[in-house]
Amino acid sequence: MKVDNFGNKLGFTGAIIDSHMHVGNWPRNGNRNDMLHFDKSSIDTFTRTPLNVNIQGQPQQDEVVKVIFSNLNALYAEGKDELEGNREILSICEKDSKYYALAACQPSKTEGNAVKINNLIQENPGKFVGLKFHPRSFGAQADSEIYQSYMFLADRYKLPCLFHCDVQVKPDGKLVDKISSPEAIHNLARKFPNVPVIMGHMGAGDAKSHQNAIDELLKSIDDRDSRLYVDISWVDWGKDGQSNTNKPSIVKLIKELQKRNATDRILFGTDAPLGCFGEAPSNGLNPKQAYEKVVGDLKTVIKENFKDQADDLIDKIFYKNADNLFFKKDWAISETKKVKNTPIIKILGMVAGVLALIGLGGVLMDKMSAKEDNVNK
Ligand SMILES: [Zn+2]
Repeated sequence: MKVDNFGNKLGFTGAIIDSHMHVGNWPRNGNRNDMLHFDKSSIDTFTRTPLNVNIQGQPQQDEVVKVIFSNLNALYAEGKDELEGNREILSICEKDSKYYALAACQPSKTEGNAVKINNLIQENPGKFVGLKFHPRSFGAQADSEIYQSYMFLADRYKLPCLFHCDVQVKPDGKLVDKISSPEAIHNLARKFPNVPVIMGHMGAGDAKSHQNAIDELLKSIDDRDSRLYVDISWVDWGKDGQSNTNKPSIVKLIKELQKRNATDRILFGTDAPLGCFGEAPSNGLNPKQAYEKVVGDLKTVIKENFKDQADDLIDKIFYKNADNLFFKKDWAISETKKVKNTPIIKILGMVAGVLALIGLGGVLMDKMSAKEDNVNK
């Protein structure tokens, strides 16, 4: 009989890494006068006691063993700056070995100067497991030049980058804008083929938006031009504000990835404590019950659709993929094409790296990005 970390005897425990969580304050529906407040206790709800999950009618206790989270306070324009916002979250990680931070980046506020984030990473070695970007919230399109120096840092420190990703589509099917679109994120990722880039929420919104993100992900795998991932927070969501039990977009995604031997590209994440996970409890479920529902729904759907491959898929999506990506940093760089850098670009990259350490890198990095743009055309 297995015993979980809480001392409970179990027939089976499913370990979970949640790749997308938050603490901090956030303007409800964009209204700065109506701020939501989430402290550490808002995510402890999901991690301190076992999750009671129902898989194909069978009760099971799962455990969220690791949380990858970022500070909402540093993810909107009027919030805290990169230094203050990210230092705040480190103090939470120090108190709790389950919690791992993504450094929230603000390229539009720094005009593309990543020196502060570089210093922060240097001062706290190993403390940040990735970078987080929210192009929508800061109004800066994901493929604009201001992201480039941050991506150089991601490359140097082997930090996966989580992007808020959404698709806003007009009735005629055309995009409203490309600010956080899968297309723009893929454009940026192509310039940094060794940096894993996650499209958070797999495009968010409805099935059409998810399809848009799936298309971009598959294109990146088929062309071997970048290393894109998706997280499944808010994917296949019902109008009642809860997880949709059938998960059609996720099933479609898994089938396509199986054909390409690439089921390592899906990560479980929730965006908790936002939405039904703390912000607006719905349909009679408290935040923890809403979390248990999404875990149970997805595991059930995988069991029903993928039979003898189900256990392996569940293990990958809920645990192994995130473990390999953020902790083991074991992603197959060889799977993507070699960086198209010429020797001179490589040398400039090394020089920019050294200069960034002493706070002068921004300018040279900008110059280099311009040059690399030309190379990649
Ligand atoms: Zn988020």
